[in-house]
Amino acid sequence: MRKTGLGRKLLTAVTGIIMVMEVLTGTTIKAQAAVEPVVTQLEVAVSSDNSGIVARCSYQNYTDKSGYEMKLYLYRIESDGEFIESQKELAYGDAGNGSTEPKQVKEGTYRASVTIDDGIGMKQINSETHYQVRWIDGNYILTNENKQEEEIRDCSGTGKESSCSHIFEYFLVQQATPVKDAVQAYQCEKCGMVIDYIDVPNSAYAVFLKETAERIQNTQEKEVTICTDRWLSFDRKVFEAIESRPDVAVEVNYQYQGERYLLLIPAGADIELLMDENGFSGFRYMNDKLFENK
Ligand SMILES: [Zn+2]
Repeated sequence: MRKTGLGRKLLTAVTGIIMVMEVLTGTTIKAQAAVEPVVTQLEVAVSSDNSGIVARCSYQNYTDKSGYEMKLYLYRIESDGEFIESQKELAYGDAGNGSTEPKQVKEGTYRASVTIDDGIGMKQINSETHYQVRWIDGNYILTNENKQEEEIRDCSGTGKESSCSHIFEYFLVQQATPVKDAVQAYQCEKCGMVIDYIDVPNSAYAVFLKETAERIQNTQEKEVTICTDRWLSFDRKVFEAIESRPDVAVEVNYQYQGERYLLLIPAGADIELLMDENGFSGFRYMNDKLFENK
């Protein structure tokens, strides 16, 4: 799950090694004066067709040779944290304007941000103020919140810059369910800034398997019915649960290529017959096996 961070560290390490090798071999490195991009007019706005809310900004000195990567964000601010509504990588250019796609957001407090990533560290520039978004008579109405004293002091006219030297980690923000993967936020462990959300692959499937196994193990009935629109197989944990309850039949109501099917695993079924050497088995395969052995 930490590929991004690890990859970047590796890249930094490799770059370092190449630089050392170049020094050892006498190759001169022409030090490029990396001019940091400049971001101006960073704000939250109503899109020109009034279809949604955007974050937008202007910028300079952002070429593909600059070594920087910039991303524009629209954040919703809640009492328990900040949530990304939309994000967009800014296009390279000596000078340019960027905007996120118009998004139909709920009423609330918003801000715009730009992250500037130089490959080693990341900093975030925030819009000078927060914005109140309201929805009145079919139109978005935007008002600036009053600037706070310290924000005005920090402000250089190009947005407020976070003083945190961020350290990003993945934090779980939503538990997996049998139908939806868990969600992790890529968040600064020091100041709480979130710059991305990712789904945890296979976490929903893992919950489905765990809950299925527990239902079979703990049932008071003679038959357990498992219903799923999404999954098509069991793993060893489920087969062990079936083995531990030879008094229980398992009916699986599942969907395959748009059609609903029923698989009946009779009480006391031989699980060795059903699963493959890794402990997995698809419902279609089990159906064939059970039918063959009738
Ligand atoms: Zn931070």
